[in-house]
Amino acid sequence: MKMFVAGQWVDRAQRSEVRNPYDGTVIDTVPKATPADVEQALAGAVEGARLMRRMAGYERYKILNRASRLMAERQEKLGRLISTEEGKILSDGLFEARRAAETMELSAEEAKRLGGEVLPLDGASAGAGNLGFTLRIPCGVVVAITPFNFPLNLVTHKVGPALAAGNAVILKPASDTPLSALALIEILLESGLPPLAISCLTGSGGLIGDALAADARVRKISFTGSRDVGVQICQRAGLKRVTMELGSNAPLIVMPDADLNQVAEATAVTGYVNAGQVCISTQRVIALDGIYGDLLDVLKPKVEAIHVGNQLDEKTQMGPMIRQSDAERVERWIGEAVDQGARLVVGGGRQGTLHEATLLADVVPSMRVSYDELFGPAVAVLRAGDIDEAIRLANDSRYGLAAGIFTRDLAWAMRFAREVESGNLHINWGPGWRADLMPYGGLKESGLGREGPKYAVQEMTEMKTVIIHGV
Ligand code: NAP
Repeated sequence: MKMFVAGQWVDRAQRSEVRNPYDGTVIDTVPKATPADVEQALAGAVEGARLMRRMAGYERYKILNRASRLMAERQEKLGRLISTEEGKILSDGLFEARRAAETMELSAEEAKRLGGEVLPLDGASAGAGNLGFTLRIPCGVVVAITPFNFPLNLVTHKVGPALAAGNAVILKPASDTPLSALALIEILLESGLPPLAISCLTGSGGLIGDALAADARVRKISFTGSRDVGVQICQRAGLKRVTMELGSNAPLIVMPDADLNQVAEATAVTGYVNAGQVCISTQRVIALDGIYGDLLDVLKPKVEAIHVGNQLDEKTQMGPMIRQSDAERVERWIGEAVDQGARLVVGGGRQGTLHEATLLADVVPSMRVSYDELFGPAVAVLRAGDIDEAIRLANDSRYGLAAGIFTRDLAWAMRFAREVESGNLHINWGPGWRADLMPYGGLKESGLGREGPKYAVQEMTEMKTVIIHGV
């Protein structure tokens, strides 16, 4: 594939390989963008932003709506591409492709809703006799930097709202998974998007990302990825608007009145999907004393049943991790936890990028599998004496993206909702759940700002206040 820069598909002599994480075969190669490409993308985006700002909302709606329809028509192809480059099982790749088409549709709708408000100026002593209202204007040039784990839907969550709001976008997809993003660029161009309104630079995040983040022509950066890279971008960005969707180590509290079969079902789904490489994956299960042993008994067979293998084989329930170094890190952290007294209930084995679905019991907060972001296919079970201790343990993290509780008691559920420091809170399901229209984002070091097309459009526009004097 070529990359798309300032209205042209361009190639470079230096290219990087995109590999299937299951067997390492090369799927394709993409160019490595140079500093000159970054400069060209920025200059093109300034012009693209001018075009987009003048385009009527209804025109933007029509382009994005067409793109959504094309994405739905090509779901099969896009889903297979996602699975091949990312490693998630085929049904999850198809599901992501379907979600991405819907995210684009939701974004298209928002292009028609960019309204302001009339200000009741006469409510202030100086205001009477004047008419005031607000306008929402696009930020201009938006930089979107995306992670590997949802290579189409998380790209759509940035590009869709940015274009709906009337911006131009420079996209920098993850080096491991740039092909789904490039397929999206083709679809947007086919749908009638002015070519200068979008660029997609492939190559090293360190090089391209640093140059983009520091440039004064960029008004808004929307980043999804790890905490440390997010902090680095914020330091480089200076006075820019930023949305940061960062890491997590999501807890799930299980109270004594919970339906344990439902808990086991939710844990198997939300702890191991995409080999645990989901930012809201259930990482810690905090079980109350009375049901601790029983919960492990029902969880064990569920986790044992997760068959690991080639993601494109329909019998496989969990595919590989993105890189061997990540699978090795997960193996190492599990080994450390066992050395420190945790009990390996299921799994623990690894072969190349394939790491078994793993269940660890008797985990305590000082173990790395509990306090850091694992981003892999293992769930750590911790014990709590009462709801106070369970909430304390849930909050014992620098992150706060998603959390869950299983209980039938409304008072416990509401204490959880009020006191657990997390952006997304699930009652009677695991934290790994999202509807693409809801406001979505983190507290604490999980980030800043909210996605979900309606909320992202707010973050990708700015407010002007207009006053007509003497009316
Ligand atoms: P990552 O290593 O932080 O990379 C994310 C993106 O940043 C990639 O495109 C990467 O490019 C780029 N990048 C790297 N260094 C950069 C720099 N100095 N300046 C600008 N961009 C730079 O994250 P990942 O491994 O792809 O994804 C996993 C992480 O994402 C986890 O921490 C997970 O929790 C988080 N995540 C969060 C959410 C959320 O909604 N909160 C959703 C999904 C994932 P290269 O690939 O070229 O290095």
